[in-house]
Amino acid sequence: MTYKDIVCRLKNASIEDAESEAVLLLEHYCMANRAHVFSFPDEDYSGPALAEAIKRRVRREPLQYILGEWGFFGESYFVDENCLIPRADTEILVEKAIVSLPHGARFADLCTGSGCIAISTLRHREDCSALALDLFPKTLELARKNARHNGVEARLSFRLADILRSDALDGEEPFDAILSNPPYIRTSVLPSLAKELKAEPRAALDGGEDGLVFYRAILEHHGKLLKENGFILFEIGFDQQSDLEALAAQYGYTAEIGYDLSGNVRTALLRKI
Ligand code: GLN
Repeated sequence: MTYKDIVCRLKNASIEDAESEAVLLLEHYCMANRAHVFSFPDEDYSGPALAEAIKRRVRREPLQYILGEWGFFGESYFVDENCLIPRADTEILVEKAIVSLPHGARFADLCTGSGCIAISTLRHREDCSALALDLFPKTLELARKNARHNGVEARLSFRLADILRSDALDGEEPFDAILSNPPYIRTSVLPSLAKELKAEPRAALDGGEDGLVFYRAILEHHGKLLKENGFILFEIGFDQQSDLEALAAQYGYTAEIGYDLSGNVRTALLRKI
């Protein structure tokens, strides 16, 4: 099968970025070199693994789960159907965390998923340590594996708990910061999402009726675990600015909204008033 054939099969399956996905597949399964692929688009590559991967992709399984690894903030992460795929959008939150954490800080990453937020932050802040929390044993195992893979396992501990419960962080010392990219999509919007998104864990997406269930629970139950000058840093949906500002005010926090490079709302940084 040639590069051109693969692009054609992906395009027929309405996959938008067929060209770059075809190159990623050839790099991963055939050790192909990107420049070489573009120079010789009619060269034949084959193999059962490549064929199987294309078949899965045409069924609209996310490319990231098929490849089993994905890049985030310059690091590489193992990913599977137990975690949300790390997204470039979330790099904004990590950038903010890296510049905002005080020296020697210990922070919590709630709903850690692949662990990408805690791990990439720790990679760039060697003075810090963290606790990563998730509800699912398999997800936490994946985050652990990613911590080892990226060399931060000595500074990251893990806790299996449900942050919707008030006792999720019982026994922990106060943190300098709480970071979280919790599920924030309104339940009613879930059915209209792209097929690939539906392949991701529903538990990582479903933010309840108003999309705010996890933000509310974190403020209600876990704000008390923040040190005096600590901060909470959330990733939020593009349309959640006023909701988050209202919620922050209700619980006695100021909220500073952060934007991505396209000017979309991306983060909210909360500090106690
Ligand atoms: N914190 C993880 C991430 O940013 C998972 C988020 C989630 O499961 N909603 O990828």
